[in-house]
Amino acid sequence: MVWYGVGFETTTPHTAALLERATRLGVKNLSVYSAHKTMPNALLALLGGETRVGALLCPGHVSAMIGAEAFRFVPETLHLPAAVSGFEPEELLLAMLALVQMLKNGEPGLVNAYPRVVHSQGNAAAQALVDEWFTPCDALWRGLGEIPKSGLTLRPEHAFWDAVSRFSPQARTIPSRSACRCGDVLHGRIEPTECPLFGKTCLPEHPLGACMVSSEGACAAYYQYEGSGL
Ligand code: SF4
Repeated sequence: MVWYGVGFETTTPHTAALLERATRLGVKNLSVYSAHKTMPNALLALLGGETRVGALLCPGHVSAMIGAEAFRFVPETLHLPAAVSGFEPEELLLAMLALVQMLKNGEPGLVNAYPRVVHSQGNAAAQALVDEWFTPCDALWRGLGEIPKSGLTLRPEHAFWDAVSRFSPQARTIPSRSACRCGDVLHGRIEPTECPLFGKTCLPEHPLGACMVSSEGACAAYYQYEGSGL
């Protein structure tokens, strides 16, 4: 059985917990194909160059694991305001208010607007579990290419559980569609509506790029809410 490990810092602890439990129970017919990703280096790659992004609403679920302080580099290195937000309307509004105030004052900082869940240093137990099993690796991102140290792979001492070491699967490279502007959308260089395929041949039910695939994607969100006043 191969467990396909996907997701950011929020889901990696589940994969690590699965491996921990499998070890304890003496399970032998399990391996993990890790496609886990981490946010900080990806954000640095995304926002470190030319961008029209003026502030960052940081995800509360990821922050619950890695801690609000993990986003300190946003004001200090990228010179952009950052606010950690929850998912209730009032939490989103509070975080956006913090961003607007920082932008207005020209003082980029980091605000934790989700303190009932997110602590400054995050979940130490989850971080220790992930560290025990995983180590950073370069990772390929759809629309962005390879970003150094933005993924997680199993540590060499856990190679027994690693589906890549165990089965040597051959990855197939699927060329991205040349007209898809996902990279520009993700960098904040263009609005999704500026992509010539948006709403024509690229639709949520027929996505042509990563940003239209899930409801969380920028193009899919624009498609759903553009013109709704939200
Ligand atoms: S609208 Fe579709 S094709 Fe255009 S950038 Fe978005 S995902 Fe890519």
